[in-house]
Amino acid sequence: MSRKVAADNLKVCCLCGAVNASSNVECFVCRWHGAFEQDPEIVESHVSELIGQCPELLNTPFAERLRPTPWWTRVRNFFVRHFTRRVDLRV
Ligand SMILES: [Zn+2]
Repeated sequence: MSRKVAADNLKVCCLCGAVNASSNVECFVCRWHGAFEQDPEIVESHVSELIGQCPELLNTPFAERLRPTPWWTRVRNFFVRHFTRRVDLRV
């Protein structure tokens, strides 16, 4: 998992250690609404521990987003984005 992706999307509750979505205002486990740990190494460590306890998480749509995009896909997306013509299909 990319540390940047984990840090951008997740944070760890300072009170109970639960991994939360960055958008959560309060911890979904203990309802803590103070500071959250967002250090990428710590977030990655907690996520790895969570996946170790529940490997099925790797088969979720969220885990798909966390996987790094292969370089050939990024190159293809660049060319598609910059060099394809957009056709106005409105008639
Ligand atoms: Zn908590």
